[in-house]
Amino acid sequence: MRKKITICGGGGFIGGHLAGVFLKQGHAVRCVDRKPQTAWYQRHDNAENLTLDLQNADACVAALQGADECYNLAADMGGMGFIENNKALCMLSVLINTHLLVAARKLGVRRFFYASSACVYAAGKQTETANPGLKEEDAYPAMPEDGYGWEKLFSERMCRHFREDFGVQTRVARFHNVYGPFGTFDGGREKAPAAICRKVIAALMAGKNEIEIWGDGLQTRSFMYIDDCLKGISAITSSDILQPINLGSDEMVSINQLVDIVEEIAGVKLRRNYNLSAPKGVRGRSSDNTLIKRLLGWAPGIRLRDGMEKTYAWIYDQMKGGLSKDSVFNVH
Ligand code: NAD
Repeated sequence: MRKKITICGGGGFIGGHLAGVFLKQGHAVRCVDRKPQTAWYQRHDNAENLTLDLQNADACVAALQGADECYNLAADMGGMGFIENNKALCMLSVLINTHLLVAARKLGVRRFFYASSACVYAAGKQTETANPGLKEEDAYPAMPEDGYGWEKLFSERMCRHFREDFGVQTRVARFHNVYGPFGTFDGGREKAPAAICRKVIAALMAGKNEIEIWGDGLQTRSFMYIDDCLKGISAITSSDILQPINLGSDEMVSINQLVDIVEEIAGVKLRRNYNLSAPKGVRGRSSDNTLIKRLLGWAPGIRLRDGMEKTYAWIYDQMKGGLSKDSVFNVH
């Protein structure tokens, strides 16, 4: 059945990819983003593309007019460097989800997907590098990432209560670090996989043999390739899973191991300067996928090495093409 789908944050990394998937499936897609359309990572000509600030209630009504489904991927966000230094901006995203839920209720939108984050998990569960994988119940008692994580946790609960009290069919995924082509790799909002690719490429282009690593490199994370994420979003949205559920990889690596992978792809070995005062986030984090495997049969299919190869190639082309000259010299 052909559906009318609104993707909020459609000019962003995940939203741009998701729009491509739904368009290929033959759905009518409306992408909405605050950024000017020339700055969208992907702009699909066969979609309806709107530039609106979804912190405004009227904009949310315009965005969801006639929509069967809403995917809320719009948020002021970035990697650790951004969220640690912009807590109020991150929390203002609560306006987006709140106004979208109100509009979805008013307009009778049939499904509402909300992109939450592993940043909702309690800090006390992430103090060791040998993280066993965060289970859904580890979000409570609550002590999430300050700013960004609190906003995500609050918005998860708004989704729950709009469903329970008003019947809006909300579904929530907790994304663990998503990476891939057509995403942020410079400017301050980038996350570790893209940042490391950029630093290695910038060092190569500048003829330097060193890079800076944030923290001691021993902190651990898992990273999910965009294609796995897109399959998970569709599966969760069409499912009957009402609780927020992990959508992430359980292939945990240290940041040093991630740098090893990028160096291997690039065919270089660089000196690592560890900046211990840079934003580092929690000590260890990975996704426990027991629940999503059991309920949906979903598991990530793309190994980190393979996804990073595609990501590196895309960032390399952007930088080689001079699309991001600043980043060539900005090896931070
Ligand atoms: P992104 O920054 O590439 O995309 C978000 C988009 O939202 C941006 O294009 C931005 O312009 C837009 N936006 C922000 N404020 C807006 C507003 N007021 N009105 C309209 N548009 C607005 O980020 P992404 O990586 O695609 O992430 C998508 C969602 O997934 C976000 O909610 C994010 O918090 C969540 N998430 C992402 C990751 C990840 O690793 N990428 C991890 C956890 C959660």
